[in-house]
Amino acid sequence: MKRKDFLALSALGIISAPMFTTLSSLEKLGDTFKSTKRMPVLFLGHGSPMNAIENNEFVKGFRKQGELLEKPNAILVVSAHWETKGTQVTAMANPRIIYDFGGFPKELYQVQYPAPGHPELAKEISLLVQPKDTVQLDERWGLDHGSWSVVKHLFPNADVPVIQLSLDYSLTPQQHYDLAQQLKRLRDKGVLIIGSGNMVHNLGLVAWDKLKEDYAYDWAIEADSKMKEWIKTSDHQSLINFKKQGKAFDLAIPTPEHYLPLLYAMALKDDKDDVSLFNDKPIGGSLTMTSVKVG
Ligand code: ZN
Repeated sequence: MKRKDFLALSALGIISAPMFTTLSSLEKLGDTFKSTKRMPVLFLGHGSPMNAIENNEFVKGFRKQGELLEKPNAILVVSAHWETKGTQVTAMANPRIIYDFGGFPKELYQVQYPAPGHPELAKEISLLVQPKDTVQLDERWGLDHGSWSVVKHLFPNADVPVIQLSLDYSLTPQQHYDLAQQLKRLRDKGVLIIGSGNMVHNLGLVAWDKLKEDYAYDWAIEADSKMKEWIKTSDHQSLINFKKQGKAFDLAIPTPEHYLPLLYAMALKDDKDDVSLFNDKPIGGSLTMTSVKVG
Protein backbone atom coordinates (compact mmCIF):
# COMPACT_ATOMS: atom_id res chain seq x y z
CA MET A 1 0.00 0.00 0.00
CA LYS A 2 1.27 3.48 -0.87
CA ARG A 3 1.88 6.01 1.84
CA LYS A 4 -0.71 8.39 0.42
CA ASP A 5 -3.22 5.54 0.35
CA PHE A 6 -2.58 4.77 3.94
CA LEU A 7 -2.76 8.41 4.98
CA ALA A 8 -6.04 8.71 3.15
CA LEU A 9 -7.68 6.32 5.57
CA SER A 10 -6.66 8.31 8.57
CA ALA A 11 -8.95 10.50 7.95
CA LEU A 12 -26.20 3.31 35.35
CA GLY A 13 -28.40 2.76 36.14
CA ILE A 14 -30.70 5.35 37.73
CA ILE A 15 -33.50 3.95 39.79
CA SER A 16 -36.33 6.12 38.65
CA ALA A 17 -39.56 6.05 36.72
CA PRO A 18 -37.83 6.41 33.33
CA MET A 19 -35.57 3.48 34.18
CA PHE A 20 -38.58 1.34 35.01
CA THR A 21 -40.07 2.17 31.62
CA THR A 22 -36.80 1.29 29.95
CA LEU A 23 -36.56 -2.15 31.51
CA SER A 24 -40.14 -3.01 30.57
CA SER A 25 -39.43 -1.92 27.06
CA LEU A 26 -36.36 -4.11 26.79
CA GLU A 27 -38.29 -7.09 28.08
CA LYS A 28 -40.71 -6.58 25.20
CA LEU A 29 -37.81 -6.68 22.77
CA GLY A 30 -36.82 -9.96 24.32
CA ASP A 31 -40.13 -11.40 23.18
CA THR A 32 -39.24 -10.80 19.56
CA PHE A 33 -35.75 -12.25 19.92
CA LYS A 34 -35.09 -15.93 20.33
CA SER A 35 -33.34 -16.61 23.60
CA THR A 36 -29.62 -17.17 23.39
CA LYS A 37 -26.81 -17.88 25.73
CA ARG A 38 -25.24 -14.70 27.06
CA MET A 39 -23.38 -13.32 24.07
CA PRO A 40 -19.64 -12.69 24.23
CA VAL A 41 -18.22 -9.26 23.44
CA LEU A 42 -15.47 -8.63 20.90
CA PHE A 43 -12.85 -5.99 20.36
CA LEU A 44 -11.56 -6.28 16.81
CA GLY A 45 -8.33 -4.69 15.60
CA HIS A 46 -9.51 -3.81 12.08
CA GLY A 47 -6.29 -2.37 10.58
CA SER A 48 -6.28 -1.43 6.90
CA PRO A 49 -9.54 -1.41 4.92
CA MET A 50 -7.76 -3.86 2.60
CA ASN A 51 -8.49 -6.54 5.20
CA ALA A 52 -12.01 -6.48 3.77
CA ILE A 53 -10.81 -8.16 0.57
CA GLU A 54 -7.49 -9.78 1.45
CA ASN A 55 -7.09 -13.32 2.65
CA ASN A 56 -4.42 -12.87 5.30
CA GLU A 57 -3.83 -14.25 8.78
CA PHE A 58 -5.95 -11.53 10.40
CA VAL A 59 -8.90 -12.26 8.13
CA LYS A 60 -8.52 -15.95 8.97
CA GLY A 61 -8.60 -14.96 12.65
CA PHE A 62 -11.87 -13.05 12.15
CA ARG A 63 -13.43 -15.96 10.22
CA LYS A 64 -12.47 -18.42 12.93
CA GLN A 65 -14.16 -16.25 15.57
CA GLY A 66 -17.28 -16.13 13.40
CA GLU A 67 -17.38 -19.92 13.24
CA LEU A 68 -17.14 -20.16 17.04
CA LEU A 69 -20.06 -17.77 17.65
CA GLU A 70 -23.66 -18.68 18.12
CA LYS A 71 -25.61 -16.70 15.54
CA PRO A 72 -26.69 -13.48 17.26
CA ASN A 73 -30.05 -11.79 16.92
CA ALA A 74 -28.28 -8.55 16.02
CA ILE A 75 -24.85 -6.93 16.07
CA LEU A 76 -24.02 -3.57 17.62
CA VAL A 77 -20.70 -2.10 16.48
CA VAL A 78 -18.86 0.76 18.15
CA SER A 79 -16.55 1.87 15.35
CA ALA A 80 -13.51 4.14 15.56
CA HIS A 81 -14.70 5.71 12.32
CA TRP A 82 -17.89 7.32 13.57
CA GLU A 83 -17.32 10.25 15.94
CA THR A 84 -20.15 12.66 16.67
CA LYS A 85 -21.28 15.38 19.05
CA GLY A 86 -23.54 13.41 21.34
CA THR A 87 -24.00 9.64 21.02
CA GLN A 88 -25.98 8.35 18.06
CA VAL A 89 -27.26 4.94 17.01
CA THR A 90 -28.09 4.00 13.42
CA ALA A 91 -31.83 3.46 13.12
CA MET A 92 -32.46 2.83 9.40
CA ALA A 93 -33.93 -0.45 8.14
CA ASN A 94 -31.32 -0.86 5.42
CA PRO A 95 -27.98 0.80 6.24
CA ARG A 96 -25.80 1.83 3.29
CA ILE A 97 -22.17 0.78 3.04
CA ILE A 98 -19.86 3.78 3.51
CA TYR A 99 -16.54 3.71 1.67
CA ASP A 100 -14.89 6.08 4.12
CA PHE A 101 -11.36 6.02 2.70
CA GLY A 102 -9.58 7.15 -0.44
CA GLY A 103 -7.00 5.89 -2.93
CA PHE A 104 -7.61 2.18 -2.59
CA PRO A 105 -8.10 -0.35 -5.44
CA LYS A 106 -11.45 -0.31 -7.23
CA GLU A 107 -12.25 -3.76 -5.90
CA LEU A 108 -12.56 -2.37 -2.39
CA TYR A 109 -15.28 0.07 -3.51
CA GLN A 110 -17.28 -2.78 -4.98
CA VAL A 111 -17.65 -4.67 -1.73
CA GLN A 112 -21.28 -5.08 -0.77
CA TYR A 113 -22.57 -6.09 2.63
CA PRO A 114 -26.36 -5.81 2.54
CA ALA A 115 -27.02 -6.67 6.19
CA PRO A 116 -30.31 -5.17 7.39
CA GLY A 117 -30.45 -2.64 10.21
CA HIS A 118 -32.65 -3.01 13.27
CA PRO A 119 -34.69 0.16 13.94
CA GLU A 120 -36.48 -1.45 16.90
CA LEU A 121 -33.22 -2.32 18.66
CA ALA A 122 -31.86 1.17 17.97
CA LYS A 123 -34.94 2.65 19.61
CA GLU A 124 -34.54 0.34 22.62
CA ILE A 125 -30.92 1.40 23.05
CA SER A 126 -31.96 5.05 22.98
CA LEU A 127 -34.38 4.27 25.84
CA LEU A 128 -31.98 2.03 27.74
CA VAL A 129 -29.12 4.48 28.17
CA GLN A 130 -29.68 7.06 30.89
CA PRO A 131 -29.96 9.94 31.42
CA LYS A 132 -32.82 10.24 28.94
CA ASP A 133 -31.91 11.41 25.42
CA THR A 134 -28.21 10.52 25.80
CA VAL A 135 -28.46 8.39 22.65
CA GLN A 136 -30.12 9.90 19.57
CA LEU A 137 -31.48 7.97 16.60
CA ASP A 138 -29.57 8.47 13.35
CA GLU A 139 -31.01 8.05 9.86
CA ARG A 140 -28.01 9.22 7.81
CA TRP A 141 -24.90 7.17 8.64
CA GLY A 142 -24.88 3.47 7.80
CA LEU A 143 -22.02 1.00 8.08
CA ASP A 144 -18.51 2.46 7.87
CA HIS A 145 -15.45 0.32 7.15
CA GLY A 146 -14.69 -0.08 10.86
CA SER A 147 -17.84 -2.12 10.83
CA TRP A 148 -18.37 -3.86 7.47
CA SER A 149 -14.70 -4.67 6.74
CA VAL A 150 -14.63 -7.01 9.75
CA VAL A 151 -18.25 -8.07 10.29
CA LYS A 152 -18.32 -9.48 6.74
CA HIS A 153 -15.70 -12.04 7.80
CA LEU A 154 -17.65 -13.04 10.91
CA PHE A 155 -20.98 -13.38 9.10
CA PRO A 156 -20.33 -13.64 5.34
CA ASN A 157 -24.02 -14.13 4.48
CA ALA A 158 -24.99 -10.66 5.77
CA ASP A 159 -28.01 -12.28 7.41
CA VAL A 160 -27.63 -10.73 10.87
CA PRO A 161 -28.91 -7.15 11.41
CA VAL A 162 -26.12 -4.65 12.12
CA ILE A 163 -26.42 -1.27 13.82
CA GLN A 164 -23.69 1.16 14.91
CA LEU A 165 -23.22 3.32 17.98
CA SER A 166 -21.11 6.45 17.55
CA LEU A 167 -18.31 7.77 19.74
CA ASP A 168 -19.26 11.09 21.34
CA TYR A 169 -16.05 13.10 21.11
CA SER A 170 -17.07 15.29 24.02
CA LEU A 171 -17.04 12.43 26.55
CA THR A 172 -14.12 11.54 28.80
CA PRO A 173 -12.75 7.98 28.67
CA GLN A 174 -14.50 7.28 32.00
CA GLN A 175 -17.79 8.54 30.57
CA HIS A 176 -17.41 6.25 27.54
CA TYR A 177 -16.80 3.32 29.90
CA ASP A 178 -19.84 4.20 32.04
CA LEU A 179 -22.08 4.54 29.01
CA ALA A 180 -20.93 1.17 27.69
CA GLN A 181 -21.76 -0.54 31.00
CA GLN A 182 -25.38 0.39 30.51
CA LEU A 183 -25.50 -1.80 27.40
CA LYS A 184 -24.74 -5.00 29.34
CA ARG A 185 -28.33 -6.25 29.29
CA LEU A 186 -28.18 -6.52 25.52
CA ARG A 187 -25.80 -9.46 25.87
CA ASP A 188 -28.70 -11.52 27.29
CA LYS A 189 -30.87 -10.54 24.33
CA GLY A 190 -28.58 -12.16 21.78
CA VAL A 191 -26.90 -8.91 20.75
CA LEU A 192 -23.26 -9.30 19.82
CA ILE A 193 -21.47 -6.09 20.77
CA ILE A 194 -18.25 -5.35 18.90
CA GLY A 195 -15.74 -2.57 19.53
CA SER A 196 -13.77 -1.98 16.32
CA GLY A 197 -10.50 -0.04 16.39
CA ASN A 198 -6.82 -0.73 17.07
CA MET A 199 -5.17 -0.73 20.48
CA VAL A 200 -1.91 0.74 19.20
CA HIS A 201 -2.61 3.05 16.26
CA ASN A 202 -0.21 5.76 15.14
CA LEU A 203 -0.49 6.25 11.37
CA GLY A 204 1.99 9.14 11.41
CA LEU A 205 4.80 6.82 12.54
CA VAL A 206 4.16 3.77 10.36
CA ALA A 207 7.34 2.03 9.17
CA TRP A 208 6.33 1.88 5.50
CA ASP A 209 8.98 -0.67 4.60
CA LYS A 210 7.67 -3.04 7.27
CA LEU A 211 3.96 -2.77 6.63
CA LYS A 212 3.67 -6.47 5.86
CA GLU A 213 5.79 -7.57 8.79
CA ASP A 214 4.92 -8.21 12.40
CA TYR A 215 7.34 -5.49 13.44
CA ALA A 216 6.76 -3.04 16.29
CA TYR A 217 8.73 -0.14 17.75
CA ASP A 218 9.82 -0.56 21.36
CA TRP A 219 7.21 1.92 22.58
CA ALA A 220 4.49 0.04 20.69
CA ILE A 221 5.53 -3.22 22.35
CA GLU A 222 5.61 -1.54 25.75
CA ALA A 223 2.14 -0.02 25.41
CA ASP A 224 0.66 -3.15 23.84
CA SER A 225 2.11 -5.37 26.61
CA LYS A 226 0.71 -3.18 29.37
CA MET A 227 -2.69 -3.01 27.71
CA LYS A 228 -2.79 -6.80 27.43
CA GLU A 229 -1.77 -7.21 31.06
CA TRP A 230 -4.54 -4.86 32.19
CA ILE A 231 -7.06 -6.62 29.94
CA LYS A 232 -6.15 -10.01 31.41
CA THR A 233 -6.16 -8.78 35.02
CA SER A 234 -9.31 -6.67 34.55
CA ASP A 235 -7.44 -3.54 35.61
CA HIS A 236 -9.92 -1.39 33.75
CA GLN A 237 -9.04 1.77 35.64
CA SER A 238 -5.53 1.69 34.21
CA LEU A 239 -6.98 1.21 30.72
CA ILE A 240 -9.37 4.14 31.27
CA ASN A 241 -6.48 6.31 32.50
CA PHE A 242 -4.49 5.79 29.30
CA LYS A 243 -3.60 9.48 29.07
CA LYS A 244 -1.57 9.20 32.28
CA GLN A 245 0.44 6.11 31.36
CA GLY A 246 3.54 7.80 29.98
CA LYS A 247 5.35 8.33 26.69
CA ALA A 248 4.73 4.88 25.19
CA PHE A 249 0.98 5.40 25.56
CA ASP A 250 1.16 8.94 24.20
CA LEU A 251 2.78 7.50 21.06
CA ALA A 252 0.45 4.48 20.88
CA ILE A 253 -2.72 6.58 21.25
CA PRO A 254 -2.06 9.97 19.61
CA THR A 255 -5.82 10.32 19.12
CA PRO A 256 -8.33 8.26 21.12
CA GLU A 257 -10.86 7.06 18.52
CA HIS A 258 -9.20 3.71 17.69
CA TYR A 259 -8.56 2.93 21.38
CA LEU A 260 -11.95 3.90 22.88
CA PRO A 261 -13.83 0.93 21.35
CA LEU A 262 -11.62 -1.27 23.58
CA LEU A 263 -13.06 0.50 26.64
CA TYR A 264 -16.57 -0.33 25.43
CA ALA A 265 -15.67 -4.02 25.18
CA MET A 266 -14.02 -4.04 28.61
CA ALA A 267 -16.95 -2.22 30.25
CA LEU A 268 -19.25 -5.03 29.15
CA LYS A 269 -17.22 -7.72 30.92
CA ASP A 270 -18.61 -9.54 33.94
CA ASP A 271 -16.43 -10.90 36.72
CA LYS A 272 -17.05 -14.47 35.59
CA ASP A 273 -16.19 -13.83 31.93
CA ASP A 274 -13.02 -15.28 30.45
CA VAL A 275 -10.87 -13.04 28.30
CA SER A 276 -8.83 -14.31 25.37
CA LEU A 277 -6.70 -12.64 22.72
CA PHE A 278 -6.44 -13.38 19.00
CA ASN A 279 -4.76 -11.74 15.99
CA ASP A 280 -2.25 -10.69 18.62
CA LYS A 281 0.38 -9.15 16.35
CA PRO A 282 1.84 -5.76 15.48
CA ILE A 283 2.24 -4.52 11.90
CA GLY A 284 4.24 -1.68 10.40
CA GLY A 285 5.91 -0.64 13.64
CA SER A 286 3.15 1.53 15.07
CA LEU A 287 -0.03 -0.56 14.80
CA THR A 288 -1.31 -3.63 16.58
CA MET A 289 -4.05 -5.94 15.34
CA THR A 290 -4.55 -7.43 18.82
CA SER A 291 -8.16 -8.44 19.26
CA VAL A 292 -10.07 -9.54 22.37
CA LYS A 293 -12.92 -11.92 23.11
CA VAL A 294 -14.79 -11.40 26.38
CA GLY A 295 -17.04 -14.25 27.57
ZN1 ZN B 1 -9.50 2.39 11.42
